[in-house]
Amino acid sequence: MFQDKCEQGKVVVIGAGLTGLSAAHRLVQLGEKDVVVLEADEAVGGLAGGCEAFGHTFDYGSHRLHIHSERDAIALAQNVLGEDLLRRVRRGKLRLKGRFIRYPPSLYDLTRSLGIGGSIKCLASFILAGIQRTNPPRAEDECYEEDLRRLVGDALYQAFYSPYALKVFGIHPSMVSTDAIKRRTTVTRPKEIIKDILRRSFFLSPKSEDYFYYPRQGCRSIGDALARKIREGGGRIYCGVQVKNVQWRGNRVLALLAESSGKPIRIVADAVISTMPVGDLVCGLDPLPDSRTATAASNLNWRAMKLIYLITKQPLREGSETFYFPESRYPFGRISVPGRFSRDMSSSQETTFCVEVICNYADAVWNAECDQLSRICIRELERLGLLRARDVVQTMSVGLRQVYPVYHSGWSAQLQVAQDVLDRLHNLISVGRGGLFLHSNIDHSIVMGQEAAEQILSSEEGRGWQERSARFRTFRVRD
Ligand SMILES: Cc1cc2nc3c(=O)[nH]c(=O)nc-3n(C[C@H](O)[C@H](O)[C@H](O)COP(=O)(O)OP(=O)(O)OC[C@H]3O[C@@H](n4cnc5c(N)ncnc54)[C@H](O)[C@@H]3O)c2cc1C
Repeated sequence: MFQDKCEQGKVVVIGAGLTGLSAAHRLVQLGEKDVVVLEADEAVGGLAGGCEAFGHTFDYGSHRLHIHSERDAIALAQNVLGEDLLRRVRRGKLRLKGRFIRYPPSLYDLTRSLGIGGSIKCLASFILAGIQRTNPPRAEDECYEEDLRRLVGDALYQAFYSPYALKVFGIHPSMVSTDAIKRRTTVTRPKEIIKDILRRSFFLSPKSEDYFYYPRQGCRSIGDALARKIREGGGRIYCGVQVKNVQWRGNRVLALLAESSGKPIRIVADAVISTMPVGDLVCGLDPLPDSRTATAASNLNWRAMKLIYLITKQPLREGSETFYFPESRYPFGRISVPGRFSRDMSSSQETTFCVEVICNYADAVWNAECDQLSRICIRELERLGLLRARDVVQTMSVGLRQVYPVYHSGWSAQLQVAQDVLDRLHNLISVGRGGLFLHSNIDHSIVMGQEAAEQILSSEEGRGWQERSARFRTFRVRD
């Protein structure tokens, strides 16, 4: 419950996702006692949070800490979770051309799913793309579609990347910025693609990349453990408090206007680390800088996600923990089986599934009843042989409003307009997935939070943050 005495904080952190929690944890570690975290949701963790229902623990979608995560992030997770941070073998499956193949795939897997004819076509177009790559791209061709065609060839682009982009961004790939490629690990250089596929093809035993870290009790336990440490260190975390406006004068933020249980609250802050979506932050500035800035900020769009959780009375068996569905014929993008990440996530007598359906906030999918979406998902999962409809005993759905930043062409100019305004406020740092409009992973959030905390405590406050945070834009996302 938010109380009167908390209406002031030396450092106020907006958002208790992993960026905000890592920032607050670092502040407390560095000796700052007067730290207040304000979280709009009723629980901490943000996108890496989760929920409990029907005796099961669920993450918000398929979550793991990748083995090649930033070292500081792994160290922090190991520190707060100890032996509860498990090392697991990755057993992902990709659905392509009507077959399940290993994900990430080997040459054999790709040939199996594409067929001999399809594989030859892909190889030929990959080689052709390689020859054409020697010609420098024309500026007007620089978009996701053209760049990927140049990178992997038309056949692979059509089979995999084009439907994937449509699913994730919800716009035609010709309207997606080339930055969407730069944010991803596996598709940046043809040499890397070939090396990766060959390595998978000729080494049978798992290599280090085929593992991941996973908290025994679910991904949300990273956030829960951080929150515990923050409170032990004297920091205060308030859930159910939504920041609406940021009052500023000159080059400083003076106070935050928030709402808790329908009541307005004013929080005076010496310094602010904000992880709320940058568009919301800029549109909430009081006074609003100018209409051009507000328009640019409100054009930073997000894709939303509906998560459908299915509980079946099938006993949990060994198998893949995650299934990927890039093709448009499937209404979902990914399905995970929490019990296969950690036995503690599920009872041995039941198998739970988490189905990820990407959509737009307030569209027909978002507004659909759980029953309606569950029925569609169950029918597809039965066709795929993953479950039997008659075994499903419970269903539940959760909506996540701001999930994937939409990198449409022109997004970076709009972000820059918003960022320019924020850069003038020396005691404010906007960071994290939402704060930087960044498609990022858990480890990136942890590192961004830690660095924001160090910056805000330095004599520079937010000055110089632009340069320091430039490296965050080079983070590569892993699935
Ligand atoms: C389905 C899915 C699967 C993923 N899988 C992986 C994976 O396997 N591995 C991996 O490394 N990463 C994965 N990620 C990415 C990872 O979860 C995120 O990058 C990371 O959790 C983002 O943390 P954050 O704190 O930056 O942002 P968020 O988690 O978005 O936190 C921001 C917080 O701010 C709060 N907030 C927003 N507005 C306000 C306001 N006005 N007032 C107060 N609070 C506010 C929000 O409620 C939220 O809690 C996945 C993400 C998704 C969606």
